[in-house]
Amino acid sequence: MIPMVDLKTQYHQLKDEIDAGIAQVLENTQFILGPNVQSLEQALADYLGTPHAITCASGTDALHLALAAAGIGEGDEVITTAFTFIATAEAIRYVGAVPVFVDIDPRTFNIDVAQVEAAINERTRAIMPVHLFGQPADLPRLQALCKAHDLILVEDCAQSFGATVNGAQTGTTGAFGCFSFFPSKNLGCYGDGGLITTGSDAHADQLRTLRNHGSRVRYHHDIIGYNSRLDEIQAAILRVKLKHIDRFNQARRRAAHRYNALLADTPVTTPFEDGLGMHVFHQYTLLTDRRDAVMQALQQAGIACAVYYPIPLHRQKAFGDGCAHVHLPVTESVTERCLSLPIYPEIRDEDLVRITAIIRGALD
Ligand SMILES: *Cc1c(COP(=O)(O)O)cnc(C)c1O
Repeated sequence: MIPMVDLKTQYHQLKDEIDAGIAQVLENTQFILGPNVQSLEQALADYLGTPHAITCASGTDALHLALAAAGIGEGDEVITTAFTFIATAEAIRYVGAVPVFVDIDPRTFNIDVAQVEAAINERTRAIMPVHLFGQPADLPRLQALCKAHDLILVEDCAQSFGATVNGAQTGTTGAFGCFSFFPSKNLGCYGDGGLITTGSDAHADQLRTLRNHGSRVRYHHDIIGYNSRLDEIQAAILRVKLKHIDRFNQARRRAAHRYNALLADTPVTTPFEDGLGMHVFHQYTLLTDRRDAVMQALQQAGIACAVYYPIPLHRQKAFGDGCAHVHLPVTESVTERCLSLPIYPEIRDEDLVRITAIIRGALD
């Protein structure tokens, strides 16, 4: 059996350090907003090269709190992609704003900047690109659009921890970078967790207040906030894993490039890297017209595979009739042909050889 993601092998590699970190939290009994969160936030700010790193309870909350801190709400439109996990657009709805879905680039699967530009109107307040599958969206052009139209750039970095554009980490170009530490993400903890980055002192103060019941001083509540903190146990785990993130991401890139080589002369379309930034392969996603046959062959061989994402957001029931008029031909075509293969830092070369041999067999 080859799984989509193998969290156990990595845990066993780091077990001594992780177990010691957890044990220390249990001994200290300071479980919320303690020394581990403080050290982790400093380490994350240093690693990412951002003035402020504010942890919170999940990637979904990171997006929600960033939009709240940006003052986005009722009557505002946020331009985003429909080819993503639902949390991207859920967060827009949480603050009362309207997600405006535009189409994607068929090669990178990231938001199409020309379509973003065409969707801007007087109600537009923000652009929310997703660095999908670990490949940075076109941040230089999106940033230029935001400057020209006075819009807020909120980056969904849930899948892109460690990815860079012109040497800058994703999450440091926009006004806010929103990360997830969900266990299967490139940097994952052993529960839920999230992070918001910002260059603004005022926004950082607001985010720290929002995540902790609107409170700056204990039992003094300046605004209505939320309970959205990363806990100390998760912070202790992330402090260990952060030290290894470059090695993990390099291993993902090596596996992806090996997949590319092994599938080179087949009819599948292997992932395109636009060279604009460094792709960290949260997912390895190919396109094939024979998806059902490939999936069936992999399943029969005990190899996991997955369709990210089978239904684009503008076709989800949750977004209802509001999207009935929305047609995104590239997104719709990609959702019918995309297939993600197992990828994780510890995947073995013999696994990659076996997986690609099965795919070749299914396409013969
Ligand atoms: C995982 C993910 C999220 C949500 O993160 P959670 O930590 O699960 O709340 C948001 N956006 C994208 C693109 C994701 O992949």
